[in-house]
Amino acid sequence: MDYEGKIYRPWMEANSLLIQTTIGCTHNQCTFCDMFREKKFRVKPVEQVVADIEEARKYYRQVDEIFLIDGNVLALKTEKLLPILEKVKATFPECSRISLYAGYNDLRRKSVEELKQLKAVGLDMAYVGLESGDVQTLENIKKGMTPEEAIEGAANAKAAGIRVLASFIFGIGGRDRSKEHIKATVDLLNIIQPEEIAPMALAIQPGTELEQEMERGEFVMPTRRQVLEEEKYLLENLNDFDSFYWGDHGNNIVPLKGRLPHARQMFLKKVDAAIRQHSETHEEILETFSW
Ligand code: SF4
Repeated sequence: MDYEGKIYRPWMEANSLLIQTTIGCTHNQCTFCDMFREKKFRVKPVEQVVADIEEARKYYRQVDEIFLIDGNVLALKTEKLLPILEKVKATFPECSRISLYAGYNDLRRKSVEELKQLKAVGLDMAYVGLESGDVQTLENIKKGMTPEEAIEGAANAKAAGIRVLASFIFGIGGRDRSKEHIKATVDLLNIIQPEEIAPMALAIQPGTELEQEMERGEFVMPTRRQVLEEEKYLLENLNDFDSFYWGDHGNNIVPLKGRLPHARQMFLKKVDAAIRQHSETHEEILETFSW
């Protein structure tokens, strides 16, 4: 397989076959992200992608799930992505799910008709970075997306029947915008109602712009208590839409995984217990906000 550079995939796709379709990320400017910093975005030649698909078939007798990488594969023009998906489906007829990374702007820039065509040839799910619903935070982290654009992209995906996993970051508003960040994020989630939700606690990646902002004192990390309070607020204020909650990322203080709204009370008990008992929360100045 011809993988170029460092390879990333969501932790939920640990058992999926990875097919590299694009190199890097079209945006590549988010201040917290170092995933594709060394790569300049380009589309992988289709012959190379096809060769990889055929080579993988020789190695794997059973492939249940396939994930297309790198960053926002959905930025590919529909006429380029369609034959790749068709090739994947034809080569791995047993595969029950094909997913990829996308931005809400990629979902927004494609028509519902185009997305339906992609769905018809096997695209089941898009992993989308929401990060925050707070306009100021989105600007601060240079996400290149507004909440309105996220709403538009999410509506396109729903209309086409493509499931969306929305990831976002506890603490990305920093110590000062914790409250605004989580409130606006929950408001936005209640509008876009992703089929799956993956919150991750902020960890500063070395070499990122956010690390430099932190060193200059322009960004202050949230306390562990604030991170827990953000999760508590989220769980208390999400509406009762059906969604799978992947709160088990390695950075998270309390690993939580299950279906909402069914698991809401169980999750809240665990977060409340962590707020009361977690030694790290008591070692910090608990200057947080009341809801
Ligand atoms: S967070 Fe996503 S959109 Fe932003 S630079 Fe990283 S890969 Fe690209």
